[in-house]
Amino acid sequence: MPRPDRRELLLESARTLTPAVRELVFRTADGEAFDYVAGQWVTLYVATADGELQRSYSIAASPDPAEPDRIELAVTFVEGGPASGALHAMSLGTRLDAQGPLGFFTLDGIPREAPLVLVGTGTGVAPLRAMLQAELRRSPVEGPPITLLFGCRTPADILFRAELEALAAAHGRFHYASTLSRSEDDWPGLTGYVQTHLGEHCAGRETHVFICGLSKMVKDVRRLLKADFGYDRKRIHTERYD
Ligand SMILES: Cc1cc2nc3c(=O)[nH]c(=O)nc-3n(C[C@H](O)[C@H](O)[C@H](O)COP(=O)(O)OP(=O)(O)OC[C@H]3O[C@@H](n4cnc5c(N)ncnc54)[C@H](O)[C@@H]3O)c2cc1C
Repeated sequence: MPRPDRRELLLESARTLTPAVRELVFRTADGEAFDYVAGQWVTLYVATADGELQRSYSIAASPDPAEPDRIELAVTFVEGGPASGALHAMSLGTRLDAQGPLGFFTLDGIPREAPLVLVGTGTGVAPLRAMLQAELRRSPVEGPPITLLFGCRTPADILFRAELEALAAAHGRFHYASTLSRSEDDWPGLTGYVQTHLGEHCAGRETHVFICGLSKMVKDVRRLLKADFGYDRKRIHTERYD
C-alpha cells in the first residue's frame, strides 16, 4: 500500500494524563477529515535539537464523526528521547507534518462474534482504547465480551482509569483490569505483569487477543498464548513500539 502524503497538523490542546504521559490533540491544518480506523497510527515529523525526526504514534481515540479533523495521541516521555521530549515540550498552536493513517492493527476482518482480549502496557493502551470506543459505539449492549488487561508500574501510571472504569460500569460486555508491577499496600487490584494474568481471560477457543506495547511484553504474551493456550497466529494481533 503506498504511504499517504505528508499533511500538516496543528496542536490544539494538551493535558497531562500521568506523570510520564502527555495527551496531545491535533487538528488537520486544512480542516479536512483525517480518515482512519481505530487502532491505526501516524508518523509525526518532529523538530528536535537533533533535527527533524520521524516517530510513530498510535491514535488513542476512535474516529469521531462529529470531529473528523481531530486526532488524539498519548505520548510517553522517554528519558533522553529526542522526539518524545519535544512532544512533551510542544506549545499549543505548533504546526508539524504527519503521515497517515497507517497500520493494520485494527478490528477489520475479526469475526463479530469473537470475544476480544486487549492487552496493553503503558501507552500501548492507546490503540486498544480507540478500538474499545469504536466497538462499544457500534454495539453498546449486545455482542461478545471485551476485556482490557492493562499493565503499568504504580497506580499513578494508570492511563484513562476513570473513563475505563465508567465504561466497564456502563457496558455489561466490557471488563477492565489493571495490574501493577510495583504494587502498593492499599492497591485492591491485580499485581505483577500482564503475562501472569492471561489465564483468567484468554482461555476461550474463539477469543482474539490484541497486544500492544514494548517488544519484550508483546513477544512474551504471544509466546504464552501459543504455548499455554493453543492459540494460532490468526487469533493473535500485535503492535510493537520498539
Ligand atoms: C507503530 C508504533 C506506534 C507507536 N505509538 C506510540 C504511542 O502511541 N505512544 C508512545 O509514547 N510511543 C509510541 N511509539 C514509540 C514512538 O514512536 C517513539 O519510539 C518514542 O516516542 C521514543 O522516541 P524518542 O525519540 O523520544 O526516543 P528514542 O531515542 O528514539 O528512544 C527509543 C526507545 O524508547 C523506548 N520507548 C519507545 N516508546 C516507548 C513507550 N511508549 N514507553 C516507554 N518506552 C518507550 C524504547 O526502548 C525505544 O527503544 C510507537 C511506535 C511505533 C513503531
